[in-house]
Amino acid sequence: MFDLQGKVALVTGGNGGIGLAMARGLADAGARVAVVGRNPVKLLAAVASLGQQGKESQAKAYAVDVCDEAAVSTLMAQLIEDFGRLDILVNNAGINIRKQVQDLSLTEWNAVMDTNLTSAFLCSRTAFPHLKKQGGKVINIGSMTSIFGASFAPAYSASKGGIVQLTRALATAWAADNIQVNAILPGWIDTELTQKARAEVNGLNERILARTPAGRWGKPQDLAGIAVFLSSAASDFITGTAIPVDGGYSVQA
Ligand code: NDP
Repeated sequence: MFDLQGKVALVTGGNGGIGLAMARGLADAGARVAVVGRNPVKLLAAVASLGQQGKESQAKAYAVDVCDEAAVSTLMAQLIEDFGRLDILVNNAGINIRKQVQDLSLTEWNAVMDTNLTSAFLCSRTAFPHLKKQGGKVINIGSMTSIFGASFAPAYSASKGGIVQLTRALATAWAADNIQVNAILPGWIDTELTQKARAEVNGLNERILARTPAGRWGKPQDLAGIAVFLSSAASDFITGTAIPVDGGYSVQA
C-alpha cells in the first residue's frame, strides 16, 4: 500500500532540511527522486547522501530557481527526458524574511510570495499534464502560520495561508483526473530556516518547547512518513486536506 516502486517524485527544496528528509523517505519507499534547489553544493551533497543508501542512480539533482516560469518549464521537460514520467510533486521550497509588516519592503514581500506560493502554482501547473497521464499526487508544504498569525512573518503567513487554499482549489479541480492534492503543515522543525530564528529571537526556543505537547522541536525526518503516505495508494481517497505534523502544537490551548 505504501510501495512507491516505479514512481517518480519531484521535490522542490529537496537539497536540504525537510525537503531532503521527505526525498529520502520517498526513495526508501522505492521512488526515483528529482531534487531541486539553487545551491549546487547542497544539491551534490543531497544526491550523494541519497546514494549512500544505494540509490544514487535513483536520484538526480536540478539547479533551478522555482520562481522562474521559464526555468520551471525547462526543468519539467528535462525531468521527463531523464525519468520518462512524473507521479509525485512536492512543493516544498520556501524562505522567510522575519520583519514586522511596517518594515517589510515590496521586494521582500514579493520574494517570499514568489518562493512559497507562486512557485507551487508554477510547478503544479507545469506538472499537471504529466500527472494526469496515470494519476498522481501533489503535496504542498504549509506551516503553523497557515493557521495562526505571526507578527514577525506577514508575507510568510500570507503565503502559507495561500498554500492551503491553493491545495483545496487544485484538489477540487483535479480529483476527476485521479490527482490527489494535500498540504502538510509542519510545526517547529529544526532546520537551517529556523536555526537563525532560534538563535536570534529571545525566548523562542523556550516558548516552542513549552507550547509543544511532545516537548521537543521536530526533526526533518518527522515529515518523511506523511510524505510517503500522501504519495502512496494508501491516501487515494484523501484530497484537499491540510495535515499538521507538529507534536500537538496546533491543538494546545
Ligand atoms: P531550508 O531552508 O532548510 O530549506 C528550504 C529549501 O528551499 C532549500 O532546499 C532551498 O534550496 C529551497 N529554495 C528556496 N528558495 C528556492 C528557489 N527560489 N528555488 C529553488 N529552491 C529554493 O528550510 P526547511 O527545510 O525548514 O523548509 C522547507 C519548507 O518547510 C519551507 O516551505 C518552509 O516554509 C516549510 N516549513 C518549515 C518549518 C520549520 O520549522 N523548519 C515549519 C513550517 C514550514 P537552496 O538553498 O538551494 O536555495
